[in-house]
Amino acid sequence: MLVVMKSGADQADIDRVCQAIADLNLTPHAIPGKVRTAIGITGNVAPVDPTLLSALPGVVDVIRVTKPYKLTGREMKPEDTIVRVGNVQIGGPEITVIAGPCSVESREQTVPGARALKELGANMFRGGAFKPRTSPYTFQGLGEEGLRILAEAREESSLPIVSELMSSDNIESVERYIDVIQIGARNMQNYSLLRRVGYSSKPVLLKRGMSATLEEFLLAAEYIMAGGNRNVILCERGVRSFSDYSRFTLDLSIVPEIKRISHLPVIVDPSHAAGKRSLVIPLARAAIAAGADGVMVEVHAEPKKARSDGAQSLTLDMFAELMEELRIITPAVRRGPTVA
Ligand code: PEP
Ligand code: MN
Repeated sequence: MLVVMKSGADQADIDRVCQAIADLNLTPHAIPGKVRTAIGITGNVAPVDPTLLSALPGVVDVIRVTKPYKLTGREMKPEDTIVRVGNVQIGGPEITVIAGPCSVESREQTVPGARALKELGANMFRGGAFKPRTSPYTFQGLGEEGLRILAEAREESSLPIVSELMSSDNIESVERYIDVIQIGARNMQNYSLLRRVGYSSKPVLLKRGMSATLEEFLLAAEYIMAGGNRNVILCERGVRSFSDYSRFTLDLSIVPEIKRISHLPVIVDPSHAAGKRSLVIPLARAAIAAGADGVMVEVHAEPKKARSDGAQSLTLDMFAELMEELRIITPAVRRGPTVA
């Protein structure tokens, strides 16, 4: 259910409606809009009697939300969500470029890498300290030490940091050191982890599971939003298919489809979809043309020496070329002046 308030409703009217919803043992979610506030209701297992709320002062309408996802859908919030991380806006008029290595391997690899990417125009820096590897015998990430290196990379480059959280055991340190919590494809359906980041004050970049449907993806985001965290960024990173030339298949049609039904920003990770660097730039171009709010790409100064995902990592020269191409594409798709 969604309670739509009059444009002139004041805070006391909004508080009264929220209290009436809480009195029904349900959870109110006030969603301020440009013109009016809407109050979403979750927690109901059966339809709520709308007359209990429609008579309250300041209420203009009580609407049934028909989709299984509530807080993520445009029915609840027609306006686009812009996630703000420092000076960066994800989902605003300009696109966002997130770049960095797959894994944090050392201070020497990470800190100069962040500085170089900032110079070339990246808006955020990525790097995994906790790595979800297919084999337990390969490099698993530097853990806490990796987080400290990332914090130093932020100091040195002034780029906000995105890094993956694999277990709620590490949430305090991840929250302390980094700016955006990544939930990886393999954890998209780890519901206890999703609930936990729902209480975090940090924005969450949620990657699509490699075989997740659109509905499963949005319901995973719903877990986070239901905990009160409104700052969710969705990330398409390719799905499993019969393709025998790429690691996954980038499902670009999900970008406009999500945009149609959800207000959340969507970014695209062409690196994990491709699995090889030659495909990354064309896929990134296509992602922006399809309406993505940004791209996240893996970049390594020496991909041959990378401890994970070297084959799909762009060199710094290739990253510079990608930025050149995005500067041509962004005005053509009316995404603000251009990237830096
Ligand atoms: C990553 O971003 O390094 C990563 C492991 O991605 P995914 O969860 O999409 O496989
Ligand atoms: Mn990777």
